[in-house]
Amino acid sequence: MPVVSRLPVASRLPVLALLLVLLAAATATGCGQEGSPPVKGPQPEDLPEYRVATDFRLPDSRTWEQAKKRGRLVIGVKEDQPYLGEKDPATGRYSGFDIEIARMLAASLGFDPDKQIEFRTVASANRETALQNGQIDYYVGTYTINDKRKKQVGFAGPYYMAGQSLLVRKDEKDIKGPQDLAGKRVCSATGSTPYQRLQSEYPETELVSYDTYSVCVDNLLSYQVDAVSTDDTILLGYAAKVPDELKVVGEPFSKEPYGVGVPRNDTALRFALDDALAAHEKNGDWKKAYDATLGLSGNPAPQPPPIDRYPAS
Ligand code: GLU
Repeated sequence: MPVVSRLPVASRLPVLALLLVLLAAATATGCGQEGSPPVKGPQPEDLPEYRVATDFRLPDSRTWEQAKKRGRLVIGVKEDQPYLGEKDPATGRYSGFDIEIARMLAASLGFDPDKQIEFRTVASANRETALQNGQIDYYVGTYTINDKRKKQVGFAGPYYMAGQSLLVRKDEKDIKGPQDLAGKRVCSATGSTPYQRLQSEYPETELVSYDTYSVCVDNLLSYQVDAVSTDDTILLGYAAKVPDELKVVGEPFSKEPYGVGVPRNDTALRFALDDALAAHEKNGDWKKAYDATLGLSGNPAPQPPPIDRYPAS
């Protein structure tokens, strides 16, 4: 891999693409690189099996009624976030912790997670409109609950507590925390809370934004930006995939409670999802799913945060 950083910038991108293909091949054949931890993906045999509710009805939820008529749920997710929401380009299959949360909730709502879910990739900036326009039934993808978003959508959960952090190249010496970002080029996703926080609290940062974090990471690897900033969960996943090139620095500097986004007025669906989350946390599915997915990027399973069943307004 040092060969990549010795090349001129313009010729690095194809090399990096090749590198990622090689890494994927190494994962598929089960051999890690010498001297670095093996690159692991979610292990299907370690994932929980979810019991599909057979006598479940939710007549007060328009979203649920329409999904029942359609015969499947349409769930918004991410497709480029390792260990959280990742789409295998060869099979089209989605995997990761957020995907497992989406699947366990579907089972509780009476949908077979293997046959009755259509996953749809929706970028950070488009989540609210996708829910408002009925393009998706619910959304599970590193979606921070906050008051501003609660004016547009509803949130079940939270089901996980993340925190904003920084990803840099392994050889970076100057950036150790958000206090070091003045004059640095930092990339984040359009419409995300980390982008907004840097803009308002660290205004000397030279901000760059793209639709997805994977494009930010490509820009970091090719020396177009100095850091990528978003949730620690997301950054640890990228760092785990190329540990010789990237590292996460400093302590998380925000609280990002992850919620399941639902159409704002569908309180019946939101409460049903809160109940389902609580049940899957209690019966061990949550922890088992975490250990088989997000846990692979390094951190042991924490206690899930308390569910905030806020009243309808
Ligand atoms: N959790 C943050 C957010 O919801 C950052 C991750 C993301 O963009 O999905 O904005």
